[in-house]
Amino acid sequence: MNSELQASASERTEQLDQWDREHSWHPFTQMAEYATLPQLHVERGEGCWLWDTEGNRYLDGNASIWTNAHGHNDPEINNALIDQIGKVAHSTYLGLSHPAGAELGKRLCDLAPDSLGRAIFSDNGSNAIEIALKLSFQFWQQIGQPDKRLVVGMENGYHGDTFGAMSVGNSVGFHGRFEPWLFDTLTFAAPECVEVAGDVQQSEMESSLSELEALLSGNAGKVAAVVVEPSIQGPAGMKLQPSGFLKRVESLCRQFEAHLILDEVFVGCGRVGSLFACEGEEISPDFLCLAKGLTAGYLPMAATLTTEDVYAAFLGTVESGSGFYHGHTFTGNPLAARVAIKSLEKLETLLDTGRLDATIRHFGERFEESFRDHPNARSIRQRGLAAAIDLAPTEGNPPWPLNDRVGMQVCIEARNQGLLLRPLLDSILIVPPLVISGEEIDFLFENLVISIDSVMNKICS
Ligand code: PMP
Repeated sequence: MNSELQASASERTEQLDQWDREHSWHPFTQMAEYATLPQLHVERGEGCWLWDTEGNRYLDGNASIWTNAHGHNDPEINNALIDQIGKVAHSTYLGLSHPAGAELGKRLCDLAPDSLGRAIFSDNGSNAIEIALKLSFQFWQQIGQPDKRLVVGMENGYHGDTFGAMSVGNSVGFHGRFEPWLFDTLTFAAPECVEVAGDVQQSEMESSLSELEALLSGNAGKVAAVVVEPSIQGPAGMKLQPSGFLKRVESLCRQFEAHLILDEVFVGCGRVGSLFACEGEEISPDFLCLAKGLTAGYLPMAATLTTEDVYAAFLGTVESGSGFYHGHTFTGNPLAARVAIKSLEKLETLLDTGRLDATIRHFGERFEESFRDHPNARSIRQRGLAAAIDLAPTEGNPPWPLNDRVGMQVCIEARNQGLLLRPLLDSILIVPPLVISGEEIDFLFENLVISIDSVMNKICS
């Protein structure tokens, strides 16, 4: 950029900084801390890269909060969007349909496990969960089992920030202060396992399943649904589940006649190397919740898929009140639906050609090489295109005080190395777009190591 343009870019950035600091309130952000940090205004993107208003380039290491699949500014998705804008941007899905919605519903049900034949759209992951919960509750009422009202969730579960989603989650750090307003739920231990580059190093499955079984048998006839994030609990810090676990959870749900709600908001749509995380385990969930990657990081849209059995229980006269009265103004938005259709088509190509598999292999290998012996990596986890490093002081040293914000320091330093990431306390979560190239993966890990080492040197000096 020439110096005149640079000067005007800086002035503009300063103006944006001021407006942002004076009027924006960012989610999941301690604004007192934010005010002290250098600001970054993302202006444009292409492929796996984002550019700020100063013209600096960053690799999008968290796929714009775990959504981006095919890169930013993808010509094919852009064209699908432009084509739909030329027709209609929004038309309600309340009692009316449109081609994009009808096609997406059909597509999702064709691709999902056989049990699922109906799609209800909404516009974010939390709402996809709210819908699954309400459908489950109302279903049991309508088939004459109103005592089935309890929900069982898993330790460390995170399903979103609305009240129902918070209630069935178990995320004390995020939601603890709202406890008095949440409905009661039951929680069973997570079957955490450690796996890197496809190698399971340890797992605790039996005790977790025994706890679930005890809860279901102790509350026989009272549990409406069990809700789990299959394969990886992303927001808890990429906590992994052993293979075979989900099938056993499903069997227990069947044995005790409770619905199985799968929250695939994070793991669905390619993140773990298959279209759905539950694929390959021959699972027949009652509800499957999708959001984030559904629209490849373009637009807000979610879907709750369910069975014909559930659907049938809602049919009746208007007077009977058996319809499902939950919807949102932008439910089924045609622009988002068009993008989702195009993204699914592209995702199938990534899967069928083996490209996603190859990317995941390289990602896992480079991750392991980079952090297996790192003195500050207390624990590392990876599955699919998702990884976490728990940072800690070297052995024998006292833990870092929370307020030292070491994870945040690493992510701020990473920006200087051309890498955008978000920490979870002192864990660094790495979730790149699905189309990240081998070279970009190398760039990511090389620069993350540099960033961590630079912060460690500062802390120790
Ligand atoms: N479930 C899971 C597993 C998630 O990761 C998230 C978001 N991080 C949600 C639900 C909530 O989705 P949203 O932020 O779109 O409401």
